[in-house]
Amino acid sequence: MNIEQQINKLREELRTHNHNYYVLDNPIISDFNFDTKLKDLQSLEEQYPEFYDANSPTLRVGGEITKNFKTVVHEYRMYSLDNSYSKDDLLDWETRIKKLVDGEIQYTCELKYDGASISLTYENGNLIRAVTRGDGVQGDEVTANIKTIKSVPLKLKGDYPPKFDIRGEIVLPFEGFNKMNEERIEIGEEPYRNPRNTASGSLKLQDSSEVAKRPLECLLYNIIGERLAIETQFKSLDKARSWGFKVPKAAQLANSIEEVFEFINYWDVKRNDLPYETDGVVIKVNSLFQQDELGYTAKAPRWAMAYKFKAEQVSTVLNSISYQVGRTGAITPVANLEPVELAGTIVKRASLHNADQIEKLDIRVGDTVFVEKGGEIIPKIISVDINKRLETSQVTKYITHCPECMTELVRQEGDAKHYCPNFYGCKLQIIGRIQHFISRKAMDIEGLGGETVALLVYAGLILDYADLYELTKEQVIPLERMAEKSAENLVNGIKVSKQIPFERVLYAIGVRYVGETVAKKLAKHYKSIDKLSNASIEELINVDEIGVKIAESIHLYFDSEKNNIAIERLKRFGVQLKISADKLANQTEKLKNLSFVVSGVFHSISRNELKKLIEDNGGKLSGSISSKTSYIVAGDKMGPSKKIKAEQLNISILTEDEFLKLII
Ligand code: AMP
Ligand code: ZN
Repeated sequence: MNIEQQINKLREELRTHNHNYYVLDNPIISDFNFDTKLKDLQSLEEQYPEFYDANSPTLRVGGEITKNFKTVVHEYRMYSLDNSYSKDDLLDWETRIKKLVDGEIQYTCELKYDGASISLTYENGNLIRAVTRGDGVQGDEVTANIKTIKSVPLKLKGDYPPKFDIRGEIVLPFEGFNKMNEERIEIGEEPYRNPRNTASGSLKLQDSSEVAKRPLECLLYNIIGERLAIETQFKSLDKARSWGFKVPKAAQLANSIEEVFEFINYWDVKRNDLPYETDGVVIKVNSLFQQDELGYTAKAPRWAMAYKFKAEQVSTVLNSISYQVGRTGAITPVANLEPVELAGTIVKRASLHNADQIEKLDIRVGDTVFVEKGGEIIPKIISVDINKRLETSQVTKYITHCPECMTELVRQEGDAKHYCPNFYGCKLQIIGRIQHFISRKAMDIEGLGGETVALLVYAGLILDYADLYELTKEQVIPLERMAEKSAENLVNGIKVSKQIPFERVLYAIGVRYVGETVAKKLAKHYKSIDKLSNASIEELINVDEIGVKIAESIHLYFDSEKNNIAIERLKRFGVQLKISADKLANQTEKLKNLSFVVSGVFHSISRNELKKLIEDNGGKLSGSISSKTSYIVAGDKMGPSKKIKAEQLNISILTEDEFLKLII
């Protein structure tokens, strides 16, 4: 097998495994084997760039940046749907359409997925373009972002037509949405409100590698084009599946509106078990011939009708409002409700978000309120049942002082939330910060849990994370539920954490907006906390992926005397506050601010060694040539397309010897 055949075989295999995993939910190889094959393909593609393919499975990780999305006119307009809310509405619809077409009418019933609509164009089995709905006539081209969604096939299989559009919905399943929110809460950011807005926001992110990190899915429901040789909607769904698209299996044929109603009744309950949000069902005339006869109104097809589920709502009584204090000092009001069953779970609490929300709802203790459950983990309060309001009820006065430390709260211009400014004295903030410090992704301290942290703080044994390292077994034993052995484990766990590498310590100290990834970037760039704390805002912004918000937050952190004392103490206790010595050996700044593309086959040094040399000397690696590329290091067999691009952009090409001279 020659190289090209090898590459194509790997691409084909990876496509099949992607399809098994993301479309059929039925992987047949281990993640490890998949990753190995992907890496093999990546390295072959790098060595032989002449076999570049814009739809290769290696391009799923994204990387392309779009500053301005191009506006594209839809070849076929993207219509909206008419809505119905009752059986009568549907019977009226049936009466209307029966006057316009001959013969029996069959229906395809589908779920109505709640996300962002998308139109995909395929030519000769390749994904050519992905465009948002926009105003229905024209939308934004978001192809680079859509390509990162693994359930979107980049190449089709089977007997697909040479050219067609297919429409569907980009959704963010609950599981991934909740995970994203956990991560946001970890870095002190507000969680996203719901999966739908997060999905549609994702499509317009400028950095496609950010989109690649989001667990989005694409569910398809409509094929459009000329001479497709498909007779019914139901068959078209099967066809789409056979070409490699993800089409949920819930779709069903119905021979009458009665059968449509059975479908609706079934899914009105069952939708609670679906992994993603649905807000109704869509009923479509099955015969495409009849669809053509019926045509469109100005806004929507006459041959389809949405039926909206009533969001499941219950009413219950608001017993009290409590106020949570986060580790950043942010106050979140929480409604404590008379427990009530909603969508299969018992609801006791609901978030009220902030003071404005309370004012908007005019919600008062003792009120009867309507609660609804959307995609969020925490249900929300929709409105107050004013008719049931008690005469004695009092307008809710938002707290003015911290419930924990009694400090007067502040609210900055443009901020929705109130904050307790007593950063170093407020016990709940202290507890929150230390809980973050010991958490799994941070110092991962074995033998110490969140509740014990609270006990330690209230017992006055610790006031910041540095104090942990001075705790003794004797101090800990008297605490509730502590025994000799558990106290020993705790102290030992803390000691062991001194080996945790610098990048995780940097995450653990809880600088606002510095999550795991940013901490890694900073650790790699500055190599020690001393260098980082001395960096100016301008310098920080110049580091890849660090924006003004993060830079300012880092500055604020190191401006504080208290933080600096804590850091000095951590240093004394032996916590890792710089990159360890063996990592530092061989590292220089000689290639600082230079960006490299490596291509071809090398002789005196392997490709990976070459890349490592670039990074160890402060250079940046990039997969593709752009105007930002400083040099291309070229070995034998560099692809002709790269050569042309380099010439166009006037970028110097170095041989491996020339490169090595740069760093000695
Ligand atoms: P609306 O936004 O309420 O006008 O509803 C129309 C939208 O529903 C369409 O633009 C699609 O994005 C979306 N939709 C979700 N599921 C389906 C489906 N199975 N068939 C057609 N449209 C759907
Ligand atoms: Zn406080």
